[in-house]
Amino acid sequence: MLKSKRAVNEESEKMKQNTIEKEVVLEGIGIHSGQKVTLKFLPAKEDQGIVFRRTDLSPVKEISIKNFVFGKPERCTVITNDGAQINTVEHLMASLWALQIDNIIIEIDNIEVPGLDGSAMQYYEAVKRAGRITQEAKRKQIKIKEPVFVNQNNAFIGLFPSDVFSVSYLLEHKHPAIGKQYLSLELTPEIVVDELIFARTFCLKEEAEMLQKMGYGKGANTKNTLVMDVDGPMENVLRFSDELVRHKMLDLVGDMYLTNYPIIAKVVAVNSGHAMNMEIIKQIKKIYC
Ligand SMILES: [Zn+2]
Repeated sequence: MLKSKRAVNEESEKMKQNTIEKEVVLEGIGIHSGQKVTLKFLPAKEDQGIVFRRTDLSPVKEISIKNFVFGKPERCTVITNDGAQINTVEHLMASLWALQIDNIIIEIDNIEVPGLDGSAMQYYEAVKRAGRITQEAKRKQIKIKEPVFVNQNNAFIGLFPSDVFSVSYLLEHKHPAIGKQYLSLELTPEIVVDELIFARTFCLKEEAEMLQKMGYGKGANTKNTLVMDVDGPMENVLRFSDELVRHKMLDLVGDMYLTNYPIIAKVVAVNSGHAMNMEIIKQIKKIYC
């Protein structure tokens, strides 16, 4: 058993920390809240990490990725601190991972980040527009030393030691619109941008109505969500034949970055979703952070 914090945040030999160069603004509608929201991305100091700032609250409250508590997953990843909450951060986090941004302040004036086109593409483009500045401090990372895993019914997620970050994901569902989709990739920032960043959120047609009755998906429609019917997405066209498993991998990349550090590990996942991702992140944080 690893002693707590024994292997914390090894410094990457050659990489330095990054922040953004200038302020950039992104607006949209929360996919579950249906409410208009504005994000403002701002540069941050070395070792400050990724910090959300709820500017609509009085007093303003900060939720740092270095120091937060998971909220109840509401079909998305929820983070909280000191009574403040932010929902659906996973696509934004995946974009920050892909752009290798370590330090950034994200001002937000509502409870949920925008859903945009259902993928992480517009987040990626917005933060890229802000430019990237390399800082002096060395980049830190978590190198998994011993296997960690969570399993539940027909779902599993495990992280195993490796010299690179890779994800092998099996998505399997009896619904013919999903069936079996499997993808295994070594994930560099370039590969995430080429292969995953465009993959959009999905749900089953049967689920869509039920979710909306439960109060979710108020900002969702068949353009920003792949609503899967037997023969494919309703009123939409797939960007990849296996777009659904690609989206699950994108979510996983975003969720993993909630450790605040890039993770070096071989990740194996079967039908893992946000609730299970949160469980494994809690374990990783306990051991390594
Ligand atoms: Zn997602």
